[in-house]
Amino acid sequence: MPFTALGLGPKITKAIKEARYEEPTPIQAKAIPVVLEGRDVIGVAQTGTGKTAAFVLPMLEKMQHRGQTRNMRALVIAPTRELVVQIEENVQAYGRHLHLRYKTIYGGVGEQPQIDALRRGVDFVVATPGRLLDLMGRGIVNFSDIEFVVLDEADRMLDMGFLPSIKRIVAALPKTRQTLLFSATLSKEIEGIAKDFLKNPVTVQIGARSTPAELVTQHVIEVPKAAKTDLLIHLLKDQALEMVLVFSRTKHGADKIARKLAQAGIATATLHSNRTQGQRMQALKRFRSGEVRCLIATDIAARGIDVDGISHVVNFDFPPQPEDYVHRIGRTGRAQAIGDAISFVAPDEADSLRLLERFLRRGIPRRKVEGIDLRLTEAAAKQAADLAKQKYDDAIGKRAERGRAHSARRGGDSRPSASGDTRKPGRIQGRNGLTTAKRDGVPSPFARSSRDSSPARGRSGSSQVPQRDGRPVETQGRSDERRSSSQTSWKPRGPRPSTRPGGGSGRRGR
Ligand code: AMP
Repeated sequence: MPFTALGLGPKITKAIKEARYEEPTPIQAKAIPVVLEGRDVIGVAQTGTGKTAAFVLPMLEKMQHRGQTRNMRALVIAPTRELVVQIEENVQAYGRHLHLRYKTIYGGVGEQPQIDALRRGVDFVVATPGRLLDLMGRGIVNFSDIEFVVLDEADRMLDMGFLPSIKRIVAALPKTRQTLLFSATLSKEIEGIAKDFLKNPVTVQIGARSTPAELVTQHVIEVPKAAKTDLLIHLLKDQALEMVLVFSRTKHGADKIARKLAQAGIATATLHSNRTQGQRMQALKRFRSGEVRCLIATDIAARGIDVDGISHVVNFDFPPQPEDYVHRIGRTGRAQAIGDAISFVAPDEADSLRLLERFLRRGIPRRKVEGIDLRLTEAAAKQAADLAKQKYDDAIGKRAERGRAHSARRGGDSRPSASGDTRKPGRIQGRNGLTTAKRDGVPSPFARSSRDSSPARGRSGSSQVPQRDGRPVETQGRSDERRSSSQTSWKPRGPRPSTRPGGGSGRRGR
């Protein structure tokens, strides 16, 4: 079916042709006519199905006739900055022959250009909820002419705790409008917000409820935890794994995998929220361009990434939530391409796998791997870990010995001090009030106060603790996902990511 049959006019179809789309994807074929008709829509589709064009194309088609206006008429809300940038790039591409003004609004970058654009007048805005609310609160946003609102990746926005923000935004919108909601999964919660925000919506669904992209081949490899990295290295010897997205549950896990792969001579890029926005963009760029064939990411950081041609998704850590699995594997098999999803499942992850299989209502085939003995690998990995622990214990033992010799020379430390200190022997008390248990006169790293997680800090009392006016000052711990992402301030540098509509090679049509 050609795009023209869906009711799109010549300017839009010209842009589609230039994007080298030959025919609509199933979600586009279903959603475009309904949106053109003016109905509210619930679209159940993952990233990779062509859902962005499914809502952007008919919106632009309808918007073009009125030309530029003073206030925004279309608002798309998406959970992450990356997704906002990607949606806007699509809007620019599809709307290149229209004379409309497009703008992104998101945090972490200077707000002035966004404010200036809103004041000058803009037709189509793509925004994250946080910055938009911020500007709304200061009276900079005028919603009075809004005709279209899209909530994209609504399930993700709920997961990320954006519901209160979205409620406030939607409450400020005109009642007469067309509302579209897209979500990879359709939960009770999503149905709830659809009921609150949409009027008599048409549900457009691709595949069965909550199922992963049909074009993704899935399998499971049962593997002891300690052997996972070796298994990954082994699999990567196969060049058919040409563009691999590896999911790690934690940021530290992602870094660890990257280090081990580097030791094995495999270059990777990592994507997690301890990295600055610039570093994340750089990682995506290296991956997209093929400079590295392996990108290691956490779930949050990988949200909404739009990379064509990912040949394999590897679940290094199995996701505890079935929805995360669906999202992860939706990163491959994009836009009619074929993809593979390989899940490493350790014995302690078997329950999560069972949960997923119940959710999907089908089993995922188990696969044996040739050319590697996972038990041997596990044994070797355990041996290496034991050796490292032995070295650590030896070092502790030596320090204890040195401590004993030192106290023997000084006649021990159990006598009260000359200043009449009556603190219990066997405890070191720092000025910060933290105490550190001692074993044979030597602080034991295993007996730290629960408030003190740093060995250096515990041993030397106050000297390692930042002080102000003689009191310990609270220092910020390692950043968590939320802190680090809200804290980073960045400006995209250099050219935009190269993946453009129709530009990816994919492995289409196999
Ligand atoms: P999305 O699901 O919107 O993230 O789109 C996934 C990818 O498919 C994007 O790179 C789009 O440019 C591409 N795409 C969207 N529609 C089509 C189409 N009809 N034919 C080929 N590629 C498409």
